[in-house]
Amino acid sequence: MGYVIALANQKGGVGKTTTSVNLGACLAEINQKVLLIDLDPQGNATSGTGIEKPTIDQDIYDVLINDADIKDVILESAHPGLDIAPTTIQLSGAEMELTSMMARETRLNDAIKTVSDQYDYILIDCPPSLGLLTINAFTASDSILIPVQSEYYALEGLSQLLNTIKLVQKHFNPDLKIEGVLLTMYDERTNLGQQVNEEVKKFFGDKVYETIIPRNVRLAEAPSHGLPIIDYDPRSKGAQVYVELAKEVVAAHGKQ
Ligand code: ADP
Ligand code: MG
Repeated sequence: MGYVIALANQKGGVGKTTTSVNLGACLAEINQKVLLIDLDPQGNATSGTGIEKPTIDQDIYDVLINDADIKDVILESAHPGLDIAPTTIQLSGAEMELTSMMARETRLNDAIKTVSDQYDYILIDCPPSLGLLTINAFTASDSILIPVQSEYYALEGLSQLLNTIKLVQKHFNPDLKIEGVLLTMYDERTNLGQQVNEEVKKFFGDKVYETIIPRNVRLAEAPSHGLPIIDYDPRSKGAQVYVELAKEVVAAHGKQ
């Protein structure tokens, strides 16, 4: 069974999608078979892995709302070993439509179960909100990876996130864990970066990854080429750190 990790933080712009795409590709690079599910209507993980919108026939919206088979939705990405369950902007309607549906919190979980044995890792790129899409992701996951941007108020809003995790544990998924907290866009030249690092460690203790993601312009450029960093610029600092992160994740769980 694939190990399912949701990448979540209701703040936008903290590195969820960058980490989903690049951790996914780097896990594949070290011989893990990976499925990345794009659960953000913006579709940045879809385009960032080289999936062109016109090639998408059905997407994750159809799985959640129209009972489409997830096997019919999954596509191969530009990186060998990394598959994508893509999304399009129609997913933006799903939050509302799910409200009145049966099994509205468990639909993604039901779909993932049907393909889980084909993957070592399944990553879910969550939208920047704590609504029903994110609750579907948490219900379907073994654990949650929280990217935290290295900036003032880095921890702001995290109590709401932890509260949502507790609610999902109570009602749908008692075994849900926090996988780890990842510092992103770190600038080691400033005191701020170090302060945030200490603050996050005080709050989350050994849940904080050893790997820290620095600010790296190549990471910001890669999505416009539809490529993970490991393919866009394998020698960049960004590629190195995401390979390190992938190794840290595999060291914690092994091959599934
Ligand atoms: P989220 O998915 O949480 O909204 P993104 O991963 O889309 O966040 O990142 C927000 C923006 O910051 C994007 O333009 C992305 O390219 C850029 N970015 C993310 N991580 C880095 C990094 N380590 N260095 C430089 N730019 C980054
Ligand atoms: Mg995103």
